[in-house]
Amino acid sequence: MAKRDYYDVLGVDKGADENTLKKAYRKLAMKYHPDRNPGDAEAEEKFKEAAEAYDVLSDSEKRARYDRFGHAGMGQGGGFSGAGGMTMEDIMSQFGDMFGDGGGPFGSFFGGSAGGAGRRPRGERGSNLRIKVALSLEEIANGVTKRIKVKRQKTCEVCDGSGAKDASNVSTCGTCGGAGVVRQVRSTFLGQMATTTTCPTCSGAGTVVKASCSNCKGEGRTYGEDTIEVKIPAGVEEGMQLSMRGKGNAGRRGGPAGDLLINIQEKPHETLQRDGQKLIFDLYLNFADAALGTSVEVPTIDGRVKIKVPAGTQSGKIFRLRGKGLPALQGHGKGDQLIHVNLWTPKNLTKEETALLEKMRDMENFKPKLEKGDKGFFERMKEYFS
Ligand SMILES: [Zn+2]
Ligand SMILES: [Zn+2]
Repeated sequence: MAKRDYYDVLGVDKGADENTLKKAYRKLAMKYHPDRNPGDAEAEEKFKEAAEAYDVLSDSEKRARYDRFGHAGMGQGGGFSGAGGMTMEDIMSQFGDMFGDGGGPFGSFFGGSAGGAGRRPRGERGSNLRIKVALSLEEIANGVTKRIKVKRQKTCEVCDGSGAKDASNVSTCGTCGGAGVVRQVRSTFLGQMATTTTCPTCSGAGTVVKASCSNCKGEGRTYGEDTIEVKIPAGVEEGMQLSMRGKGNAGRRGGPAGDLLINIQEKPHETLQRDGQKLIFDLYLNFADAALGTSVEVPTIDGRVKIKVPAGTQSGKIFRLRGKGLPALQGHGKGDQLIHVNLWTPKNLTKEETALLEKMRDMENFKPKLEKGDKGFFERMKEYFS
């Protein structure tokens, strides 16, 4: 979607002064604030849009760049990371609870709504861990549970993540009083503004350690190897990413663990090719079999299946085995397996073979004659995509 002009967003003239911008922004921010529009995605977008517009236009340097280059000039160093615009966190961390602290209509934004101090997890979160998992088509067809060895940071077993030598060496952090966060209230043009940040003294743990655990040097986590069971649902595809919450690296000093991100790769199959939920098998028939008809065994994802090839089968014909494809990742039913007929042309012929073919070459029925029902390339494509 094209970005709206920042002046239009705020509803001000190009020459608007600082005061006008403030007023316009304040009005919009009040109107679209998430606390006033719970669950309203459009309001949230408007709120973000206004915040971004104000952020640029209220800064003389950014504004000058915007006036000259438009949105194209705002990509780098414009204050917001490129295309995504501002997230709610960006806005809130920058402006805090800008419309008052508890008393105003938006007082609940930081403190109250989710139940106060307890909701913030203690300590620094661990980082995410990425692994690749290569799967066979059979595993993709049925889903699979893999046990995978990963090197990761684990909660220290000696101190159970506290980072302290023992319990007597842990005390409540004096800076934040154990909350793990500090709150600052400042006065700004938009009223009182509160920001909540991780406590700089205890890094969010809420406690300070006098003597460190010797096993983890006070980190509360150690590096080690772990075997993780990863359940992969049927129907995944190359390039998909699954995530397992809390299975990444352990957090510092008892902080929550990061996530384990699993990147799916597909191992090529010996005989079958995948196209979404379809599986494709290339069948090679010699000319005699195609002309006379035969029955052949073809591989499927769950064993071999015998199919009948009728007399007079043309090259390029597609047979369909219903339900022999792959399941949808979310949803019901399975795709089909398509059997694509190719005529095999011999390359090295004996004298006898050559003589036989020479004989056939000019026979009446060997001349290509398209009949009704013989499908050309485009017809077959239609069949394939149905
Ligand atoms: Zn330890
Ligand atoms: Zn603290």
